[in-house]
Amino acid sequence: MKELLVISGKGGTGKTTVVGAFAMLADNAVVADCDVDAANLHLLLNPQVKEEHAFHGLPRVRIDRDVCTSCGLCLEICRFGAISPEYVVDPLACEGCGVCVRLCPAEGIIPQERVAGQWFVSETPFGPLVHARLNAAEDNSGRLVAEVRRAARAIAKHQKRDLIITDGPPGISCPVISSLTGIDLALLVTEPSVSGWHDLARVLELAEHFKVRTVVCINKADLHELMSKEIKRRCYDRGIEVIGSIPFDEQFAQATVTGHLPIDDKSPAVTALYDLWEKTYALLMQEKPS
Ligand code: SF4
Ligand code: SF4
Repeated sequence: MKELLVISGKGGTGKTTVVGAFAMLADNAVVADCDVDAANLHLLLNPQVKEEHAFHGLPRVRIDRDVCTSCGLCLEICRFGAISPEYVVDPLACEGCGVCVRLCPAEGIIPQERVAGQWFVSETPFGPLVHARLNAAEDNSGRLVAEVRRAARAIAKHQKRDLIITDGPPGISCPVISSLTGIDLALLVTEPSVSGWHDLARVLELAEHFKVRTVVCINKADLHELMSKEIKRRCYDRGIEVIGSIPFDEQFAQATVTGHLPIDDKSPAVTALYDLWEKTYALLMQEKPS
């Protein structure tokens, strides 16, 4: 089983549209939406939810004032400043690390289980989709990403599917790191702008750090041809191959708004997407360079 991760340095590059197109073109894949803070792949793939699971965040804590001896230890050790001098825990400041629970000599700090989101297993016309939703103001999406990936792998194994296509989170934070581990290939989608390159360079650094095999695709490449050339040159200098250039296409740009991805069109953008998919798939099926 191979794992492809599609990521970008920031939102709005067209990453999800590329994943949606790949999901439609692949023969035997499981698709995982790990962009859990802003999941929208389901808008393109018309899923029917078959399973819904609660995602439990790290527990916040509560101090039992009947047990607390006001020794002050928890105030000293909480590095997030979540405990007030009156020994009340601020649920927004508490990170759920559990240190105070373990160290309170009176055993007066009680963890509070809570649901921080949901994850789903759905069927789509193109195969199974695992996706998730994080509740408002929740963090720790790296753990939810790990959960979605675990479920996608289990389905791929059970249904003998040979590929997992993952829509990764944007940026370079913890959820991206959680998405990068153990994959076979990362496809980085960027756009031809100064900020596009800046964000791409940060993700490239991250991928290099984790020694992940990486290729790049420039979306909306014809909107700034000079910058597209410059990105190709800079990627070449770093030993990174640019395997696709997709011209701007209004229907693709609006795909997550309209819910329609016109993959049967004969437009230049669709032709470029087919070409990108073929190159990506061929790279995935190659042995990893040692
Ligand atoms: S460490 Fe335990 S006993 Fe001490 S102040 Fe905090 S809650 Fe109270
Ligand atoms: S669980 Fe961690 S963050 Fe929360 S109050 Fe205790 S020490 Fe502070």
